[in-house]
Amino acid sequence: MTAPDRRLLLVHAHPDDESSQSSATMARYVAEGAQVTLVTCTLGELGEILVPEWTHFSPAELGAHRQEEIRTALAEIGVTDHLYLGGAGRYHDSGMTHDESGRVVAPPERQPNAFWDADLLEAADHLVEVIRSRRPQVVSTYDPFGNYGHPDHVMAHRVAMYACTLASAPAHRPDLGEPWQVERVLWNTHNTARWAEAYAVARERGLELWPEREVDPDDVGPDPDRIVAVIETAPWLEVCRAALASHRSQVNTEDDFWQFYRIMQELPGAGEAYLLAAGRPFPASDVPASDLFAGL
Ligand SMILES: [Zn+2]
Repeated sequence: MTAPDRRLLLVHAHPDDESSQSSATMARYVAEGAQVTLVTCTLGELGEILVPEWTHFSPAELGAHRQEEIRTALAEIGVTDHLYLGGAGRYHDSGMTHDESGRVVAPPERQPNAFWDADLLEAADHLVEVIRSRRPQVVSTYDPFGNYGHPDHVMAHRVAMYACTLASAPAHRPDLGEPWQVERVLWNTHNTARWAEAYAVARERGLELWPEREVDPDDVGPDPDRIVAVIETAPWLEVCRAALASHRSQVNTEDDFWQFYRIMQELPGAGEAYLLAAGRPFPASDVPASDLFAGL
């Protein structure tokens, strides 16, 4: 069987990140017959458990449980090509804490195979092999700050960026496959303008969002001029909701934050936003583009 013409690879840190950040994108490209590959870097063993009956789960039990959750989520979205970086359990969730200034950082005590402590080349090589076998034109991951600072998200960014470079180098590890040049690397990001609109609506409805601090809604995402592509959420709302709700241990769709999230997804023009990290720019006349493959 020949591979589909359009091939997309997404790199996420934990089970649930794909559903909260990329479900419309994945659902759309699956529906259009493109090849969609998801790589999840850890099992999310240290996620905060929201379901009272499950709080006794050990990290290993939570990791096993979250593999079930993501399987359900991906069945909703229609993604069949899903891998864990280096195999399930190779890299452990690093966990996160806050330093004195409130910044998100890695906790001092970590598992020996915490993703944050991974050897960058070794971790990237796992992804080089995936890139060379799937041959995606477009790769999506987080920005250098991991979008909000979680060490596993920062690491996912580093691994993805390094792997894209190494995958194209003929001199690098020929045993991992034929070199492949990814044509465009994107960073998924907040859709800043929609976020601000949704924040105002949520406030009006009396939702409790970050009561412990003031949030300037214009500061949560990039300058809207830097957003190069937006994949509309509207056609995929039901899929997005079902995928997110599959992650029951992590997401209570009734709580105020996820209600806010839902308000945002339902706004006219809402969508998953992307920045250009590397490779071929989108045709200037078409920015923000509605297709991640535009101009390739
Ligand atoms: Zn995450």
